[in-house]
Amino acid sequence: MTDKRDYYEVLGVDKSADEKDLKNAFRSLARKFHPDRSTEDDAEDKFKEIQEAYAVLSDPEKRQMYDRFGHNTPGGSPFGGFGGGSFNINLEDILGGDFFSSFFGGGSRRSRNRGNDVIFRYSVNLESVFEGTSEELELELPTSCEDCSGTGAENGDIISCSNCGGQGKIRARQQVGPFVQDVIRDCPSCSGMGQIIKTKCKSCKGSGQQLKETKLRFNIPKGAEDGTRLRMRGKGEPALRGRGENGDLFIEIEVEQHDWFERSGADLIMSLPLPYTDLVLGKTIILPHIDGGELKIVVPKLTNSGETIEIRGKGLPRIRGSGRGDVVVLVKLQMPKKVSKSEIKQLESSRQTYTDEELQDTIKQDAVNRRK
Ligand SMILES: [Zn+2]
Ligand SMILES: [Zn+2]
Repeated sequence: MTDKRDYYEVLGVDKSADEKDLKNAFRSLARKFHPDRSTEDDAEDKFKEIQEAYAVLSDPEKRQMYDRFGHNTPGGSPFGGFGGGSFNINLEDILGGDFFSSFFGGGSRRSRNRGNDVIFRYSVNLESVFEGTSEELELELPTSCEDCSGTGAENGDIISCSNCGGQGKIRARQQVGPFVQDVIRDCPSCSGMGQIIKTKCKSCKGSGQQLKETKLRFNIPKGAEDGTRLRMRGKGEPALRGRGENGDLFIEIEVEQHDWFERSGADLIMSLPLPYTDLVLGKTIILPHIDGGELKIVVPKLTNSGETIEIRGKGLPRIRGSGRGDVVVLVKLQMPKKVSKSEIKQLESSRQTYTDEELQDTIKQDAVNRRK
């Protein structure tokens, strides 16, 4: 008992720390050294030490005893078997539900005996989305450690947790408003596993996992949207200590930005800057298209800047339903960078004239159109 570190020192607070200081100190340390999170070898011991210190100092009676007698309390330990870890801290309350949910793969209260989900982002271009392609790639994925069958223990050196009697669960009292309730919680000593690793596996350092080159085959669905997730069941991380099912692997499709198209569902939207003469006289434009063919855009004569041209059935395949979306072309006036003297002369000769009244009518009409 005497080789124990001072509880205040463990939490890094001074003797005058109040309830809030203690909780804050505990929270940040627990987040750092939670054995499920931390990769440090002694995380589990550190975590226990932190829990013990917090359990004592957050209890006014125990704290008083500790302040008087330290670890050498006369007549045995008043703190009741710390070594076994019989302190009752609701980690979820203190660390916040998100600590666990982010770690346990997003599902808010998923069973702990399930491995983490893994998300892998995969970029494809719009052409692949149009076609719907089959992809194959090799990835280093976490798998169960072969040397310890995922248990994390060297030569099966695991002992049953004495705190919960190997059950992984403990009964705890919880204050809910004015009521005191008995609740079943995961045992804090063994994180609900019911077992404690005595000697960690050398290959995986006790994590029970190793990375393994894995070949994956999957299809990019036709018309897939950016952010579409493909689920591969059971290809995620193995369960803690090899007990329970694997998490899932999600492939999140990232659709690369196209050089000129924006997407709106199955529709493709682009703008087409053209010189004044093309807007006046009309023009047919041919562009290479994502379907491997050509996109023919017919700009009629006297097209206004800001008008749109819809080309039906030339967009992306619809995910639901059949057929393809449209291409929507927004025509814009592109001013020339400069103008020569002869051009100015030519343009001056053909400059349009209008009366003040005509101009006001045009402005009025434009306002009406804009408000439509
Ligand atoms: Zn336990
Ligand atoms: Zn191992």
